[in-house]
Amino acid sequence: MKFLIICYLLVFSNIILSQSQGKYTIVIHGGAGYIPADISQNVKDAYLQALSDALNIGRKILESGGTSLDAVEQVIRFFEDDSIFNAGKGAVFTAEGTHELDASIMNGKDLSCGAVAGVKTIKNPISLSRLVMEKTPHVLFTGEGAYKLGKKFGVDIVNNHYFDVVKRYEQWKKKHDENVKGTVGCVAIDEYGNIAAGTSTGGLTDKWAGRVGDSPLINAGTYANNKTCGVSCTGQGELFIRNTVAFNVSALMEYKGLSLQEAAEEIINRLPEGSGGLIAVDKDGNYVFVFNTSSMLRGIANAEGKFETAIWK
Ligand code: ASP
Repeated sequence: MKFLIICYLLVFSNIILSQSQGKYTIVIHGGAGYIPADISQNVKDAYLQALSDALNIGRKILESGGTSLDAVEQVIRFFEDDSIFNAGKGAVFTAEGTHELDASIMNGKDLSCGAVAGVKTIKNPISLSRLVMEKTPHVLFTGEGAYKLGKKFGVDIVNNHYFDVVKRYEQWKKKHDENVKGTVGCVAIDEYGNIAAGTSTGGLTDKWAGRVGDSPLINAGTYANNKTCGVSCTGQGELFIRNTVAFNVSALMEYKGLSLQEAAEEIINRLPEGSGGLIAVDKDGNYVFVFNTSSMLRGIANAEGKFETAIWK
């Protein structure tokens, strides 16, 4: 009898395991904006290639049983090292001709989170954000304190000129913000049901020194909660801060029972046309891309074999 019970338990637990095993969803963005429909094939290919390379990094981690936090951090690191995005290497110029970078990451399992704002010499702000989350009792570090923390944890430190990229310099000199904002973000749910979200940016071209946008602010630009969803935003940061956009998606789901799609549309529809958008994944692996600009560089991969990247609506 005992033997039969053990056999039954083994079979039953395997069924449960195989149901959750390998399930994952990952979504990414490279900023919302107005990319002209007639951009050159080369530029278009470069964006799409970078998006699929990023998705592949996350997909491999999640497929092999890695965590959503690892996937989010590694995908965003990849974006930060690619100068075509406004994060890390490709960060835009401030009004003073320097670079100030913002990032944040959140773990939906326990609402732990970490962020850095206005950092000038941290090569990968998303990784320092994760260290803030995991190795300090605090949530957000700025400027000099963030730099000291980075040194203490041994992250890569670079000169501020490392972020000088010709394309960004020209945009700044011409005083015109580009159509592609280029902030990056990633949200994923892993096979253990844990949701993580992260965002990284150089902010807005010609922003005043010391200006901080929504991207490093938990609840505004980034949010994750295993009970509901994970969210990463992109757009005019001031509007996303005033409207607590990322948290509101989760709150509408939790307090009002809205679906992920309904919640995301409800909040983005309240923002002025052209202000930006968000990507999100819910606890069941559903995902959304909602934006009120003409384009959002984006991608999705999941365990069901979906693997898509896109630029326009
Ligand atoms: N939200 C970012 C900021 O305001 C910029 C962007 O997403 O394009 O700093």
